[in-house]
Formats: sequence, C-alpha cells, structure tokens
Amino acid sequence: MPRRCTVCDHPQRHSIDEALVSGSPYRSVARRFRLSDSSVYRHKTEHLPAHLLKAREVEEVALADDLLEQVRNLQTHALDILERAENARDLRTALAAISQARRNLELLGKLAGELDEAPVVNLNVSPEWMELRTLIVGALDAHPQARGAVLSALEGAGDG
Ligand SMILES: [Zn+2]
Repeated sequence: MPRRCTVCDHPQRHSIDEALVSGSPYRSVARRFRLSDSSVYRHKTEHLPAHLLKAREVEEVALADDLLEQVRNLQTHALDILERAENARDLRTALAAISQARRNLELLGKLAGELDEAPVVNLNVSPEWMELRTLIVGALDAHPQARGAVLSALEGAGDG
C-alpha cells in the first residue's frame, strides 16, 4: 500500500498550498502546520504542481462557460433584431442579423466542442440552424429575388 501524503490528507491542505505558492519556505510552513519538513518538501515538489494544474483547468472551464454564456446572449440579441427587421420589412438589417446569428452558431458549436470534446458541430445539420434557415426562407417568401440570392449565399457559405 502506498504511503499517504500527510499534507494532501491534511484538513488545511488548501492553506498549506497557498502558503507554499506564495513563496513561504517549506520549513516554516512545516513548522506552522506541525508537519515534518520532508513531507512538506515532498508535497511541494511532487503534488503541488498537479493541484495547481487542476485548479487552472477548472478556471479555464469556468472561463469557457462564461464565453459560451456571452455568445448565447449575443445570439438572443441577433434573433431579436432579425425578428424586428422582418416585422419592419427591413431586409438589409435582417440579412446582417442572419449572418451574425450564423457566426454565433458557429462559435457556439466550437465552444461546445472544446468543452465536451465532441466533434465540431456541422452547422448544416444543427437544428438551430435549420430552424433559422426555415425562418429566413419563409420571411423572404414575398421577395423571390432576394430569396434566391440569400439561398445561394447560404449554400455557398455552408461549404466553407
Ligand atoms: Zn501531497
């Protein structure tokens, strides 16, 4: 059975790690927490880097989650603008909102892929994109010329 690390098992491990990270000499840390010099030294060299790495990963995931949330907010705004532009029959603004929404979806797909290591989302089969696409084509029903232009632009963009 491997010997347990008295520092890792210590109820104040977090404070010990903090003291070590902030540069306190391991001997004084050992004295402060009534531990042996050698166990603090071993913990500092062998276990602390792994703890720090883990903390950093948690931080990065939190950051990615935050980004994801921001892109979702952007997407809500873009769809809101699209709806308003459609109601106002403002095709130019509607198109700008559509292309922004599409970029948001791509970004969401990438971020989601990085978070759970899923394969990169294929936009053309994403239900959100299909829904948006149907919405766009429906909105342009009364404008056959614009509709044709938008459809061919979307198909061209889908390959990239
Ligand atoms: Zn340890």
